[in-house]
Formats: sequence, C-alpha cells, structure tokens
Amino acid sequence: MKEYKINDTYVSAINEDKDGYMYIGFFLEGGVLRLNPKTKEFENYKTTSSKSNNISSNSIKAINEDKEGNMWIGTRYGLNKFNPNTKEFTNYTTKDGLPNNTVYGILFDKQSNPWVSTNLGISKLDIKSNKFQSLGITDGLQSNEFNGNAYFQNKEGEFFFVGINGLNAFYPEDIKQSSFNTKVEFDEFNVDGKIYKIINGKKFKSNENNISMNFFLPSYKNTGKIRYYYKLENTESEWYLNLKDAEWNSSENNSVVYSNLEPGNYEFNVVARNNNGSFSIQNNVKFTIEKPFWKSNTALLLYAVIIIIAIYYYINRMKRLDKLVYKRTSQLRNEMEKNNKLLNKVIQLEKNKNNYFVNLSHELRTPLNVINGTRQLITELNKKEEGISKSKINHYMNVIDKNSKRLLNLINNIIDSTKLQSDQYIVNLENHDIVYIVEETALGLRDYIENKGIELIVDPEIEEKIIQCDNYEIERCIVNLIGNAIKFTPSGGKIEVIIKDLDDKVMISIKDSGIGIEEKFHKSIFDRFNQVIDANAEVKGGSGLGLTITKQIIQLHKGSIYVESEVGKGSNFIIILQEKIK
Ligand code: ADP
Repeated sequence: MKEYKINDTYVSAINEDKDGYMYIGFFLEGGVLRLNPKTKEFENYKTTSSKSNNISSNSIKAINEDKEGNMWIGTRYGLNKFNPNTKEFTNYTTKDGLPNNTVYGILFDKQSNPWVSTNLGISKLDIKSNKFQSLGITDGLQSNEFNGNAYFQNKEGEFFFVGINGLNAFYPEDIKQSSFNTKVEFDEFNVDGKIYKIINGKKFKSNENNISMNFFLPSYKNTGKIRYYYKLENTESEWYLNLKDAEWNSSENNSVVYSNLEPGNYEFNVVARNNNGSFSIQNNVKFTIEKPFWKSNTALLLYAVIIIIAIYYYINRMKRLDKLVYKRTSQLRNEMEKNNKLLNKVIQLEKNKNNYFVNLSHELRTPLNVINGTRQLITELNKKEEGISKSKINHYMNVIDKNSKRLLNLINNIIDSTKLQSDQYIVNLENHDIVYIVEETALGLRDYIENKGIELIVDPEIEEKIIQCDNYEIERCIVNLIGNAIKFTPSGGKIEVIIKDLDDKVMISIKDSGIGIEEKFHKSIFDRFNQVIDANAEVKGGSGLGLTITKQIIQLHKGSIYVESEVGKGSNFIIILQEKIK
C-alpha cells in the first residue's frame, strides 16, 4: 500500500467492476483505492480530496457493484454511490432517510435497488423515488444491529445478512413495506403568543413572525420512537428561487419554533418515521408573513412616484432656472447695450461741447483781436507828428463800434441761451398781431438784404392774426432766421417770408434759395452743442447759438420749429405758433 501512498493497511472490502478495475476499501481512514491492475494506474478517493462530490467517510465497510456499473460503498458514515464515468460520489446519510449511518453490507434486488444492513436495521433505497424504506426488529429481523463483512446473495437472489443475534435470509421481493398510512396532524400554532388551530393560507403582519407549531401522529401501531422530519421553505427567498431543495431537519420532538421570520410565503412540511424506518403521510401548512408597509409594493410604488416627481420637479426647476438665467442675461445685455449707447452719447456730447467751446472762443477772440489791432493802429498813428486824420479816427471808431457790438451780442446770446436752458428765461406773453410783427421785422431788414444782391419777398396770406406772444422775442427769432438766410444765400438769391393761418395756429415760413442743409443735420442744428456742420462757421460769424435760442423761445411759446431743406436748393425754416397758450 505504501506504493500507493496509503498508510492504512487494513483492507476491509474489495470488489472488481465489469471493466476490471479493482476497488479496495480501507477500514481505518484510507478511503477507497481504484486500481487498474494492468497499468497499475490508481486513484485514491477520500473525504479530503479536492473534488466537489467526495466520499462521505474514509472508513470503508462494504463495496458492491450494481447492474448499471455504479459502485456502492458502505462506510462508517453513510452510503455512497460512485459513478465511474463522472468519478463523482452521491452520499446518503440519516438526513436522507437512512436509519443509521453505519453501513455494513450492500446487496441489490432485481430492480437494482440497494439494500443495506446498518446498526439500525435493514434499509432499501428505492432508486426511483430516491427514498429509503427500512425494516426493523419489529418486522422480524434477528436484531437491529448487523455485522461487518457478513452479507451474501445466492444465485436465486436470496439475501443473507448476519447480525449480532444470528442470520436473516429473505427474498427481497417477498418483503412488503409496511407503510403506515397515518398522516402527521397539526395540533396548534402559537404566533407571537396567539394560539391558532389552523393557519393554512393565513397572512401575518411583519411583526407577527415568531411561530411555534405542534404536530402529532393520531394513531401509531408501533410504539417505538418516532422521528419527525420537517422543513420550512420561504418560497420567495432567493435561495428557494434558485430551486435548491431545503434540507430536512429531524427531531424526536413534536414541536418546532421559528423566530424572527423574514417576510415571505412559507411552506412547512412535516413527516414522521417510526423506528422501522417507515414514513407516515406528509402534511403541510402554508402561510404568509407580510412585508412591513415601508417594504410593501404600495410603498415601493410610492417611493418610485416620489422619486419621479422629485426628478421631474428638479428637471423643471433647472429648466426654469435656465430660462431665468437666459432672461436675466439678455436683460443685462440689453441694459449694457443701452448703457453703452448712453455712454457713447455722453462721450459724443462731451466732444461736441468741447468743439462748441473751441468755436466759441474763436468767436469771442475775433472781435477782440480786431478791437485790439485797431487800438494799436490808433496809438501808432498818434505817435507820429501829423497825428491821425478825423476821417481815419471815424473809420477806426466805426470798426471798434461794430466789433464791440458783435462781442456784446455774442455774450448776450451766451447768457440768454444758458438762461433758456436752465428755465430762468421769462417771456412776456401778451396779445399781438403776429402778421404785423413778422412783416415789420422783415421789412426792417430789406435794405440790408437788397444790398447783398438778394431779393426779399414778404407774402402774408392774412392781414391780421392776434396771438399770445412776446413780440420782442418773436422779433428776435425772425431776425435770427432771416439773418441765417442772408448768411447762407449768395447774391442773386431770394428770401421769402410767408405767413399762413391754421385756425387756432399760425405758420411762419422763412424760405431761402441758398446752400441748403444736409438732411442728417436737420435736427442737430437746433442744439448748440451739435453745431458741427460748418467748419467755417467762424468765418461766417456763426456761434451756433442762433437756432438754439430760437427753438427755445418758440418752445416757451408752446410752439414748434423745424427745417425742410435740400443741399444746393435752399432751406425753409417753419415756425408753428398757437393762437392761445393754455
Ligand atoms: P450760427 O450763428 O453759427 O449761424 P445758427 O444756430 O444760427 O448758428 O445756425 C446753425 C447752423 O445751421 C449754421 O452754422 C449753418 O451751418 C446752418 N444754417 C442755419 N440756417 C441756414 C440756412 N438758411 N441755410 C443753410 N445753413 C443754415
């Protein structure tokens, strides 16, 4: 045996299969050796070998081959079937219904069912139903205890099993299993302190999960010990769904207690076996332990709904926030654009103001330069012996007078426009004939106009129209407009002054055939800081204040002024005044 690395030298069983393999069983702890006597190849099967389905014990009592070629091995702990093709063992112990785990002998009946002698009688394994049927002393056996290596089957198929009180010889087909047709009955159930007679089909709350059950055999002819085999299966558990068979528990007690059962559908099965190994009729009971509300399907549905609502709300909120952010961003962008425009306008205004003041300074300096130059001339001439002639003095005084007036006029205009701008200017509104005022003012300038080679036409459509106005201020406006017309109309041109009645209003038009004004300046010429049209305004003696003052005066009369003009064709300044100012 050392050759085969087996220390156990006590061979207890030996058999040869139909293929010529030798099966050698060892008594102590050597397991089974499967040997090919020709090749000397061998395998040793023990409980510890790395295979998944091992032999149930290393102490061998019997080895026998069935008609199918399976080797049946009796051990000190259970019966084993060895399939030489798969080299796998199937174990049978008391858990599977074997009356006792010490198996002394193995014989086969005509149906190839193994019959085994044990320490608790003889037992037959019905290979079809995979259930054991047992014979005990009450069935006529010499004793329940049998001996090792003491079994034999003669050619007629008769079985011989030897035990401590002698020999049993029988034909297996003569043995009629004395099954006891009694059914295990349930006595009562205790569910968390509450007693029930029947619980089949009952549903218990999740906290009613401590159950004890009492069962009994109503009549039993054999008075020996009864063993109950039972199992409780949760048909909802993952374990059950994986289609594993629950193990049967066994006890001599006729009651069982289950504590803290998980929620689920339960099936409890119970069967009794008498000491012959005969089984009673099985009984079962089914009951349910419900899930707690928070685990129930309704609760799960509720959670799902809440989660969906929360997600929906969240997405919606994000969308709303997005929209809000988008709205705010575009608002901000608009505001920024507005501010930018405003800023550009202010910058432009500042530039214009600057321009205006530069122009104005030139305007103020020109007459002052002339006055100063004339003074120097007079002083120089006066240094000479002959002095200055009377006519020259008169000429120079005239020049000084003209320029002083121009300067004064300019300063008055500046003061007036500032006053007008700050609403400090007062107009004296009284009833006046507007036709008379306009006509007289225009005719007063006739000589001057005609001297410039320009024709003046004054053409009122009405003879008289009394309106509320300040005659002095209106005259000033007319002078301003005719003055501009003269300035911008070359000789040979024409100036027309027209007055029209518009019922409760009156229209005054001063039209010239001069150089005209580009359309883009039609509005800005009425704003002193926007007087940027004519770079040569200074040459022509303009301060950019005339139209500004005129417009402001007309506005104080609640009237309006605008221009219609085309470059090269001339301009038409139109004033509309109210008959009565409310
Ligand atoms: P200024 O004292 O410089 O003439 P105004 O306010 O009277 O200032 O006129 C503003 C500008 O409008 C002028 O500088 C000129 O360019 C233009 N303007 C005014 N009247 C006429 C007109 N009749 N024909 C052409 N341009 C005119």
